[in-house]
Amino acid sequence: MKSRKLLMIPGPIEFEPSVLRAMGSATTSHVAPNFIETFGHSLDMMKSVWQCPAGQPFILAGSGTLGMDTAAANLIERGDRALVISTGYFGDRFADILTRYGAEVKILKAETGGVVHPDRIEEELRRGHYKLLTFTHVDTSTAVLVDPVPMGLLGKKYGVLTVLDGVCSVAGEEIRQEEWGIDIVFTASQKAIGVPPGLALLVASPEAIAAWKNRTTPVGSYYSDWSNWLPIMNAYSNRKPSYFGTPAVNLVAALEVSLQLILKEGLEARFARHHKTGKAFRAGIRALGLGQVPLNDAIASNTLSAPLYPAGITGGQLLPLINEAGVILAGGLLPEIKDQYFRIGHMGSVNQGDIVTTMSAIESGLRGCGYEFVGGAGIGAAL
Ligand code: PMP
Repeated sequence: MKSRKLLMIPGPIEFEPSVLRAMGSATTSHVAPNFIETFGHSLDMMKSVWQCPAGQPFILAGSGTLGMDTAAANLIERGDRALVISTGYFGDRFADILTRYGAEVKILKAETGGVVHPDRIEEELRRGHYKLLTFTHVDTSTAVLVDPVPMGLLGKKYGVLTVLDGVCSVAGEEIRQEEWGIDIVFTASQKAIGVPPGLALLVASPEAIAAWKNRTTPVGSYYSDWSNWLPIMNAYSNRKPSYFGTPAVNLVAALEVSLQLILKEGLEARFARHHKTGKAFRAGIRALGLGQVPLNDAIASNTLSAPLYPAGITGGQLLPLINEAGVILAGGLLPEIKDQYFRIGHMGSVNQGDIVTTMSAIESGLRGCGYEFVGGAGIGAAL
């Protein structure tokens, strides 16, 4: 029996063989000419994938939380005000991080599965003197998608820096950082970027860099401080050797290959493919009679889905059966509804075969739990 299972969680995802091969190649020196080229080329390609030609990219060894930490540490000085738009677990985490760096944080929380209306955000921005506005493009705990366009416009209107947590969206959901006027967009390698866990990837606008330069107090984190990293990124961009902290050499080699694959597919084609995949999963889940965490399709993400368990069936019963059928899915994450739903990640190189395999495993698991439905309905609707 084939022992390998299909990994369909919202990160880490299934990786392309060429990416894994690059990662497995002989480790070179971080100042070797071929590695300098790989790093510099990856920085160049990030500007294209983020659609932010004037932006400053950073490649750091760490997870997505380091992206959040870097944004907060470099832009916040004690007493600065930050407005956090929370559509789930990761919005709440951002509030904690900003507070740690001395920000006065106000959280606007969406109802579970919903978004915060831009009018409510504008009302708050009008009232307070905010320096920073953060939002989660796709909150991985709710599968809720936030429209970044009004955020960028509000940021410009009120002179507030905007930060998009794109850990579950970059290279899956449409992002036009420069056109939309978003100051920071960060992600982690293990998601739609398609590289094993271990890299935090961030692009900062010229305004964000200027705000950091205008600080009057030192950055509160040594590792995240752009004073340490900016010269390194500039050196690699100019194809020169440099050192501050040893880069994750093999992961950067894998990143170069994955970014090439992303650009070869084409951003528009990639967004459209994710859109189609998200729609297929939502249709399949609905056809099986299952509800979903996002309150409607217009705010449902295309990189993951969050189906509700049918009445009387628990994750403890269903998920192991799906696993036995060959597909690994994730349980719930948002504390208040954790036991009511599960999550299917469908970002990166997911294809039609993966969609069918996953829906089939879900149907098989539901059948094993005694749930009644028309066999093949989910697969058929997804197709
Ligand atoms: N933000 C979002 C939206 C995420 O999905 C995650 C990880 N699932 C993070 C931040 C944190 O990333 P990491 O686990 O890589 O630290």
